[in-house]
Amino acid sequence: MSIQQNLNTIKSQLPAHVTLVAVSKTKPVADLMEAYDAGQRIFGENKIQEMTEKWEIMPKDIEWHMIGHVQTNKVKYMAPYVSLIHGVDSLKLLQEINKQAAKNNRVIDCLLQVYIAEEESKFGLDEQELEELLKLVQHDKDNFKNIRIVGLMGMATFTENKNQIEKEFKHLKTIFDKINELSIINYPLSILSMGMSGDYQLAISCGSTMVRIGSSIFGSR
Ligand SMILES: *Cc1c(COP(=O)(O)O)cnc(C)c1O
Repeated sequence: MSIQQNLNTIKSQLPAHVTLVAVSKTKPVADLMEAYDAGQRIFGENKIQEMTEKWEIMPKDIEWHMIGHVQTNKVKYMAPYVSLIHGVDSLKLLQEINKQAAKNNRVIDCLLQVYIAEEESKFGLDEQELEELLKLVQHDKDNFKNIRIVGLMGMATFTENKNQIEKEFKHLKTIFDKINELSIINYPLSILSMGMSGDYQLAISCGSTMVRIGSSIFGSR
């Protein structure tokens, strides 16, 4: 199957309220262009340098999403153009994104990454850290004029056990709804980024509004 066929198959399965991020990390520009020519405009990368190299040479109507773990000292390289940063998990990182966004006269949209998996290796905030960070940003909002927290992101445990994955996705959806019900910030969070090639249908059934799909579009890495 071609990239274009894969893309069309996946898009035909997505409800209208779910946004597709085509995860193109490690793939050559020619592959991304095939997806672009098939109409895809949102691409996800997990390394800032690789994303920046692709941004420089590809069409400028592409929205670039940073889906990987972000080191503060590299934020400046993507601040001029990045559309959405999925993996924000500390105050220090939010402050740096705000600072670099201000230098570029931009407001950068961010998702806070929540730790929902059972593994030790995944990044993210636990529920309490998340609420504390949201309250802090809300309370100190004059110092965060150049970022906008628009939602949450999570990754389930890497397992074949669908019940466990479902439990973790539902947990994240519960946290998302709770934040909105309690109005911890003064506007509703709109994006819930969860689901990858192996589990996006399950994620959507659990309330995902944004799926990050790589290998099912571009083939294995
Ligand atoms: C690589 C990656 C994906 C895509 O994974 P696939 O299994 O190839 O769909 C999604 N989210 C994050 C954070 C990733 O690093």
